[in-house]
Amino acid sequence: MGDNGGSLYKKREKVHPKKVDGPFRRFKWAVLFLTLGIYYITPWLRWDRGEFSPDQAVLVDLAHRRFYFGPIEIWPQEFYYVAGLLIMAGLGLFLVTTSVGRAWCGYACPQTVWTDLFMVVERWIEGDRNERIRLDKAPMSAGKFAKRTSKHAVWLLIAVLTGGAWVFYFTDAPTLLRELFTGQAPFVAYATIGVLTFTTYSLAGLMREQVCTYMCPWPRIQSAMLDEDSFIVTYKDWRGEPRGSAKSKDAGLGDCVDCMACVNVCPTGIDIRNGPQLECITCALCIDACNDVMDKLGRPLDLIGYSTLNRDKAEAKGEALQPIWKTLLRPRVLIYFAVWSAIGIAMLVVLAGRSRMDIHVAQERNPVYVQLSDGDIRNSYTVKLLNKEARPRQFEVSVSGLQGARLSDPVTGSEPAATVRLDVRPDGVDTYRLQVRAPVASLHAEQTDIRFNAHAVDGEGDAMETTRFSAPASAVAAQ
Ligand code: SF4
Ligand code: SF4
Repeated sequence: MGDNGGSLYKKREKVHPKKVDGPFRRFKWAVLFLTLGIYYITPWLRWDRGEFSPDQAVLVDLAHRRFYFGPIEIWPQEFYYVAGLLIMAGLGLFLVTTSVGRAWCGYACPQTVWTDLFMVVERWIEGDRNERIRLDKAPMSAGKFAKRTSKHAVWLLIAVLTGGAWVFYFTDAPTLLRELFTGQAPFVAYATIGVLTFTTYSLAGLMREQVCTYMCPWPRIQSAMLDEDSFIVTYKDWRGEPRGSAKSKDAGLGDCVDCMACVNVCPTGIDIRNGPQLECITCALCIDACNDVMDKLGRPLDLIGYSTLNRDKAEAKGEALQPIWKTLLRPRVLIYFAVWSAIGIAMLVVLAGRSRMDIHVAQERNPVYVQLSDGDIRNSYTVKLLNKEARPRQFEVSVSGLQGARLSDPVTGSEPAATVRLDVRPDGVDTYRLQVRAPVASLHAEQTDIRFNAHAVDGEGDAMETTRFSAPASAVAAQ
């Protein structure tokens, strides 16, 4: 509180990250191209599912309540797969954080990826750190105005493309693109693009590290997951301190030459030499910066490096370090991995064995039963047949649990028989009204449990549902 004169508000100090090169920066470029490539290209990939289903490889079809992912099609009643995937994603984040710290934040989080992209644009138009600082301080001029306008225009273009790519996941992408340009797209598509344009532009362009520091809950949650064996970006103070100029003749100085290279490249503007901090997103750019300095000075690398608190302590004491794999594969990590794998395997097994058809039966109540002139009792049912395949199919429906029961379809006027064959549209539900009649001699109670069985004529699936057959008390008593 003291620095802010008692106020809880801390004024933002603008960060001007400097360009850096090195293995971690190159790895971050690779992740950036990969993740952005996946995001922008995926809606344009096609997947042939036959003439009755959409051919977009990844599609959240809200209108028909389906989720398509390559050969996998998820129906609303199978939403638990999506829930399973979310649980796996959450556990995966736990797993990664426990072993290698905030790797998600540093490399793959959309906030990091888009901020990186926006910084490239900024550097390209306004120059590197020192030029940008000078530009910030300079009074407004035609040149400054042109640079600022160009930067914000390119940011806005990226933001629009980001929102644009998102809506393509929810409907056929080529069709929607045409509609967007001809003004025929639904309002919700324009509204979504507008909202995502605004959030991308403001979060990645204007707010940047403040999102990670103040808005995102993850830095707080992760502290519960990190332990002394988690890999984080660490400054080896036992080696670097006391810091001092490289030109100094003082033999008692550590390896840190106080060049500020690590601070200048940091996208969150912190000094890693102050120890592990909540603001550190573990992007490792300070490692690249410091290794560059150490290399030029001919000193050992990794004054700043990936290490764990325990390894750092051991290294400081000159003790032998345990192999990295032993640190990575400790019991806590293995337990997370086992749970994560078990959920994944269970989902795969259920997915592979799930039925591509289903039947739902509801007994009609008005009237519950009818006694026919030959004495048989007849009940009527609304039967819904689900065909989850992208081709028309025929299901053979029968009833069990009631001696001599026969089925008929009053719409087609079919003769009562042991089975009826019904057509079901591709990738859809067809509803039939079926009647079941049973000889009164087979009825021993007013309510008898019966089972509707549906068997796919193509041999690929069975489904069943239990319901009740009702009879009048007088008919049962007469037995
Ligand atoms: S301190 Fe280093 S690892 Fe942490 S955010 Fe800054 S540059 Fe990235
Ligand atoms: S880059 Fe390395 S040498 Fe330079 S200030 Fe940072 S820790 Fe010290």
